[in-house]
Amino acid sequence: MSSTLVWLRDDLRLDDNPALAEAAAAGSPLTVVYVLDEESPGVRPLGGAARWWLHHSLEALAADLTAAGSRLLLRRGPAGQVIRELAEETGADRLLWNRRYGGPERTIDAGLKEWAGGHGISAESFQASLMFEPWTVRTGSGGPYKVFTPFWRACLDAAEPRQPLEAPDRLPGPAKAGGGKLPASEVLAGWGLLPRRPDWSAGLAEEWTPGEAGAHARLEDFLDGPVSDYGTGRNIPGEEGTSRLSPHLRFGEISPFRVWQALRERFPHRAPADVGIFRSELGWREFCWQLLYENPELATRNYRPEFDRFGWRTPSDDELQAWHQGRTGYPLVDAGMRQLWQTGWMHNRVRMAAASFLVKNLLADWRSGEAWFWDTLVDADAASNPANWQWVAGSGADASPYFRIFNPVTQSKKFDPAGRYLRRFIPELAGLEDKAVHEPWKAAPEGYPEPLVGLPESRARALETYQRLKDG
Ligand code: FAD
Repeated sequence: MSSTLVWLRDDLRLDDNPALAEAAAAGSPLTVVYVLDEESPGVRPLGGAARWWLHHSLEALAADLTAAGSRLLLRRGPAGQVIRELAEETGADRLLWNRRYGGPERTIDAGLKEWAGGHGISAESFQASLMFEPWTVRTGSGGPYKVFTPFWRACLDAAEPRQPLEAPDRLPGPAKAGGGKLPASEVLAGWGLLPRRPDWSAGLAEEWTPGEAGAHARLEDFLDGPVSDYGTGRNIPGEEGTSRLSPHLRFGEISPFRVWQALRERFPHRAPADVGIFRSELGWREFCWQLLYENPELATRNYRPEFDRFGWRTPSDDELQAWHQGRTGYPLVDAGMRQLWQTGWMHNRVRMAAASFLVKNLLADWRSGEAWFWDTLVDADAASNPANWQWVAGSGADASPYFRIFNPVTQSKKFDPAGRYLRRFIPELAGLEDKAVHEPWKAAPEGYPEPLVGLPESRARALETYQRLKDG
């Protein structure tokens, strides 16, 4: 008897899941599996915050699959081998998945396709995580875009993203393994994804609801309010002006096609400019993935090779710790780093300021900041994280010019004038006047550190180092 194996990866959802929809339509007994792969060469192990997210997301997914008459099977090991064994165990004659775009992941998938071909198993992959697959967006000369604006224009000129597929009401029952038994599943709690001793996840649990239902609720909240003022609101860290969909998109709990469709439905006629700006942020996500697709080593290698000669300093342990813990003496940087530690997320404007402080004012190699974000962000993304760090460092594609150095004081005065955001995350500053909250060294509040480095001197040092690179 034939059976189907669906391998879920960064697509932990039932809605708009082409691989699952295909399995539902086929109707033959179905195995749905998630593989925790910490062994395949080159696959980047998840950071702590993402592991916490994954645990809860899998829990939600398992419940949703059960409600639809299926079940989620959990296995651990090198994914290629695990899937081959499971296909043999369940006698699968179809293997379905939604495509991934990272280098090591593509190698695994290509190997499986080849294996399947030699074993009479049909392996089919689908487009689900990106609206514009990297190889479809090409310049006139056939190469990849290196600059965002023409990339996004080319995307918008291409065919409209397809309509999302509805979640299947019912899925076929599970396939049996040898002896008529269901294939054995590992136990999620046994994977040790949740932090223990200490358990630092309380702030994350307060802020987030991992899983498909949580993702759709976030989208609705965003469409009901912030989207209409997104162009302005997205820059104000003290307000909920953005969608906070990033971890949901990262784990594929919501499809970008679904988000796109929701915008089409809310704004059926000409979409306001704010909606266009929000769409282009989704475009940045697509652009980052295109960069990773073309440059599989984006997290470890300068996109611009001349930066290999850049004179990064090795910051002292004290300096790095001050940055990690939000104790640099610069309120915007510190509020951001504390928001990150407490909630697993940081506002985009503050990410730029905090990252700029590390790579420019402390002159640390962007890779050390990228690694910290990788470990602490719930939305830590294999493409967006390194691409944005390289953007800030000036070593990336379409990067912010190196000489543009964010001034954390000017930035907080402009985007958080009343210090709402600053006070929320830095209680030591709660009693200061609005003006003093941006430059607390003038008031010397108790318990808050002096600035780690002077802004003018560290800025000059960064510019000199950059000049040396340019002079060769
Ligand atoms: P919204 O403003 O509501 O935007 C909607 C969606 O668009 C986001 O959910 C995200 O998927 C996408 N998006 C928005 N801005 C960007 C961007 N600059 N690059 C790529 N996609 C974008 N984003 C991640 O998803 N994962 C990361 O690991 C990550 N690391 C970053 C590191 C640095 C140093 C910087 C400066 C930015 C990073 N970003 C990352 C991009 C951005 O900060 C977040 O996507 C955004 O803050 C998420 O909040 P939101 O969902 O409310 O965004």
